[in-house]
Amino acid sequence: MKLANRVMALTPSTTLAITAKAKELKEKGEDVIGLGAGEPDFNTPQHILDAAVKSMNEGHTKYTPSAGLPALKKAIINKFQTDQGLTYKPNEVIVGNGAKHVLYTLFQVILNDGDEVIIPTPYWVSYPEQVKLAGGVPVYVEGLEQNNFKITPQQLKEVITDKTKAVIINSPSNPTGVLYTEQELLELGKICLEKDILIVSDEIYEKLVYSGAKHVSIAELSPELKEQTIVINGVSKSHSMTGWRIGYAAGNKQIVEAMTNLASHSTSNPTTTAQYAAIAAYNGSQEPVEEMRQAFEKRLEIIYDKLVAIPGFTCVKPQGAFYLYPNVKRAAEMTGFNNVDDFVEALLVEAKVAVIPGSGFGTPDNIRLSYATSLEQLERAVERMGEFVTAKV
Ligand code: PLP
Repeated sequence: MKLANRVMALTPSTTLAITAKAKELKEKGEDVIGLGAGEPDFNTPQHILDAAVKSMNEGHTKYTPSAGLPALKKAIINKFQTDQGLTYKPNEVIVGNGAKHVLYTLFQVILNDGDEVIIPTPYWVSYPEQVKLAGGVPVYVEGLEQNNFKITPQQLKEVITDKTKAVIINSPSNPTGVLYTEQELLELGKICLEKDILIVSDEIYEKLVYSGAKHVSIAELSPELKEQTIVINGVSKSHSMTGWRIGYAAGNKQIVEAMTNLASHSTSNPTTTAQYAAIAAYNGSQEPVEEMRQAFEKRLEIIYDKLVAIPGFTCVKPQGAFYLYPNVKRAAEMTGFNNVDDFVEALLVEAKVAVIPGSGFGTPDNIRLSYATSLEQLERAVERMGEFVTAKV
């Protein structure tokens, strides 16, 4: 059967391809260490599980409003007030089935055919595909490694056309872990205000920041910027709740209303039990969030130095998320590979370490390693990579 053109144009996820290969090797009994994970390795905190069970036992197992339970919206609104000093009304918030799906819905409601969305590289793999699925055109701007993978105001200005509809800012970033400062956000925001470009601020890694770095939301910098921004967030990464599928958007009420209409015909509502769990996540103790953050920070501190000691590896030190994004172009050349994709394949087959090639994130000289795995595994993996490189040079 001939499939729809829109899905024929989809690029398969590189993340999934390498993860599938690693799984295949593991099933054959190989001792593969996977550093591809995009999710915290901790259990969802107990009080959240308890709240979910309680809600089911109390009979909360039916449809909810499409944009989410009023109590969950309230918890999200309180979170914005406490963390960013931002005030949203309930009709400015929509809860969806994970931040990924909320972003999908957003692009569906804001883009017409040919509308452009500016995406800084390296980017999270789903942005370009979601933009394309909505008929939009991704316009890439290279966040240069020497500028810590961040785009400059000048670069932003250069790619704006009369078709530009939105720009995506993802801070802390997947895959680089870098954060934009308040000043940088102000400068980018000023241009978006001048040119009337919607800012899509993906803040899913907000709670995972290290070395005293502070996450700033562009929406909190002025009332005008708040109006110009749709904030995307969720509980997946902060509360180790990836499987619960709860994410949300906050911003302009017309956009949120359109997203709610669309959701009413696609998902009806995010899973009721998961919404009750998310209420507990935000209204309950935030101590587990901080404990997980500290564990990630400890791993980062130990692993970073070992990683950059590998010949041919350089790495911008991340300040957030749980990824390292080293440039390994020189290591690949030194060890006789034509490109980093081949180097990654050999790392998996020979060194038994699975990492994600940067080509999937728009920067083919890098690899992405996730440190959402035990310190012991991480140390072994980095050791293996080091041995693999030194044996070949
Ligand atoms: N945005 C970024 C940058 C991500 O890395 C992810 C998950 O990997 C998401 C959004 C989606 O998160 P979820 O759909 O689990 O809420």
